[in-house]
Amino acid sequence: MVKVPELFGSMVFNEQVMRERLPKDVFAALQNTIRTGKAISSEVAEVVANAMKDWAIEKGATHYTHWFQPMTGITAEKHDSFIQPAEGGAVIMNFSGKQLIKGEPDASSFPSGGLRSTFEARGYTAWDPTSYAFVRDTVLYIPTAFLSYSGQVLDKKTPLLRSMESLSAAALRVLKLFGKTPERVAPSVGPEQEYFLIPRELYEKRPDLIITGRTLFGARPPKGQELEDHYFGIIKVNVLGFMEELDRELWKLGIFAKTRHNEVAPCQHELAPIYSTVNIATDHNQLTMAVMRKVAARHGLVCLLHEKPFEGVNGSGKHNNWSISTTDGENLLEPGKDLKNNLQFMLFLTAVIRAVDEHQDLLRLSVATAGNDHRLGANEAPPAIISMFLGDEITDLLETLASDREYSNHVGNKLSAGVDSVPVIYEDTTDRNRTSPFAFTGNKFEFRSLGSSLNIACPNIMINAAVADVLNAFADKLEKVKPSEFKKAARELIKSEYIAHRRIVFNGDNYSAAWKEEAHRRGLLDLSGTPESLSYYDRKENVELFERLKIYTKQEVRARKDILLENYCKVINIEALTMCDITLKQILPAATEFTTRLADNIQKLTALKADASAQSDVLSEISALIGKVYKTEKKLSDAVLAVKNEPDLQSAADAYHDTVFALMQELRGYCDAIELLMPKSLWPFPTYSDLLLYI
Ligand code: ADP
Ligand code: MG
Repeated sequence: MVKVPELFGSMVFNEQVMRERLPKDVFAALQNTIRTGKAISSEVAEVVANAMKDWAIEKGATHYTHWFQPMTGITAEKHDSFIQPAEGGAVIMNFSGKQLIKGEPDASSFPSGGLRSTFEARGYTAWDPTSYAFVRDTVLYIPTAFLSYSGQVLDKKTPLLRSMESLSAAALRVLKLFGKTPERVAPSVGPEQEYFLIPRELYEKRPDLIITGRTLFGARPPKGQELEDHYFGIIKVNVLGFMEELDRELWKLGIFAKTRHNEVAPCQHELAPIYSTVNIATDHNQLTMAVMRKVAARHGLVCLLHEKPFEGVNGSGKHNNWSISTTDGENLLEPGKDLKNNLQFMLFLTAVIRAVDEHQDLLRLSVATAGNDHRLGANEAPPAIISMFLGDEITDLLETLASDREYSNHVGNKLSAGVDSVPVIYEDTTDRNRTSPFAFTGNKFEFRSLGSSLNIACPNIMINAAVADVLNAFADKLEKVKPSEFKKAARELIKSEYIAHRRIVFNGDNYSAAWKEEAHRRGLLDLSGTPESLSYYDRKENVELFERLKIYTKQEVRARKDILLENYCKVINIEALTMCDITLKQILPAATEFTTRLADNIQKLTALKADASAQSDVLSEISALIGKVYKTEKKLSDAVLAVKNEPDLQSAADAYHDTVFALMQELRGYCDAIELLMPKSLWPFPTYSDLLLYI
């Protein structure tokens, strides 16, 4: 029997462990650092390092690592053992304060968008004491930020921490006007993680899955997700085994794994944790993905975190539930019972409305990746157009305010189950619109456009920054007003801001063609793919925003844009080359083998004067397709080569998107058509039915 409370956090050097193991004054100094972000003295670091090492060794650790989140999107780690030579050829286990605080990974191979070469050759990692150290396998993990010696950020964690600072400072200014002075304000995030599980032995027979994380070929199986029998369905035994072990491993690491269920597509599942402060949520989500992969391997499965592993069935996303709370525990997005008179809530809500409208481009590009391009706008995820869902009640209230009408309290309809024993509930007045990219869901916003493999730091940097900037603008205005006039001024501000930004609010069906037209009429951005989205990153307004809030310099924005563009190019390049390889080495040989057999068969039948017309039809159909595959494969490999002539990264990315990717789709179409005509015994790798419909 697993005792969850005992298991929970057992591998984490958390507050409780610190309290037990550190001298009182050291514990107090460290807590102060965690709370205020002030630097730690070398004496304190020395004591903490020693206690951490002793604790980690008891948990089975032999090594330590500075764990960081470079711009590659995954986490990086380099393990160093604790050993230090001692007399007589022996070793002692050692870990110093210096080693805890700062590390110098040989970081020259991490993407820096040119930042390091211009300034300093090396980068260093710095301990982030606000995120607990933990032991995984035999390694003590120390969460760190990654910077260059000149202070340029090279990771995702540092700007996230900076954006949290900006948001806190701005929110505190506004709260002060309401007579409130909490110590800090922090964003909380609960990321719902979707993933696929497939049998490892079949995965190993699919080079496309191994190399690119998604299937580049595959005709649709006879049964997909149309019966909707998988969503919340009974969980298969081996999958349940996986989920149970996953939960246990996550709990040990202090991760609040809460909800697990089957998702819409066959073999698709979801895990949702209880929300936490966004930097912790980010670390924990990265860890969750790593643990998922590892636990799957122990169950003969592979965990696919790609946004679109299979064409024709839903891909995987990650809903980012975001709210802001004070250190006193007040959620600033909680409407409370008396919405109409909750001026503070309405002001914060209006700030989010303006932030989303003004920074549609940043939100859109923060979720733009080659993988996510398959989902957005494909009627399984929100469209590429960013809009907000507020629900009828809040929208009515804002509309009433905007038109100077009297507000008649909108009460949710009674929902009755029609069975007496089932309690009557009121219809959630913030109805859950599943198609909206940015939906208000009661006391938080749910940003639904994230892809499943994304590091959540980037979208949260954008939300924090955009909202912080608007709150500062609001504070600039309202701080000038006399206290006696404050309420009136705040109400006026909500009204004028809502009128200026209400075009971003849309409560209807985001999948409909009518909305696309309507959104265009409203002048909302409709950025269709990653290259186009990224081209907005270093717009003047965006650079100014990041500089104003001290999150990124202009060079850092440019560097980030370049890294993301380059990443896009590399992904499509690898996918295209993998496609060409599989086409030439596996699909065409199999198809020609089948045509040879057909031709033999036709010859023999004809010699016997038997009817061979059906075989002849199939033969000519496949032969025609083989011709198209040959031609398109050639065009595709030529197109990949031609990209090398593009003058810059943006045009290279555009070419990958417009030409290379388009040809990949065409080639896939012909190959999938061949698959449907071929006998299973001759098809060179497992089909969608094999992969998705296993028991
Ligand atoms: P659904 O699938 O219906 O959207 P889930 O229960 O799967 O809902 O996930 C909701 C997520 O939102 C959870 O991670 C939950 O902890 C998180 N959440 C709840 N309240 C807040 C909040 N105030 N701020 C941020 N996240 C929240
Ligand atoms: Mg959910």
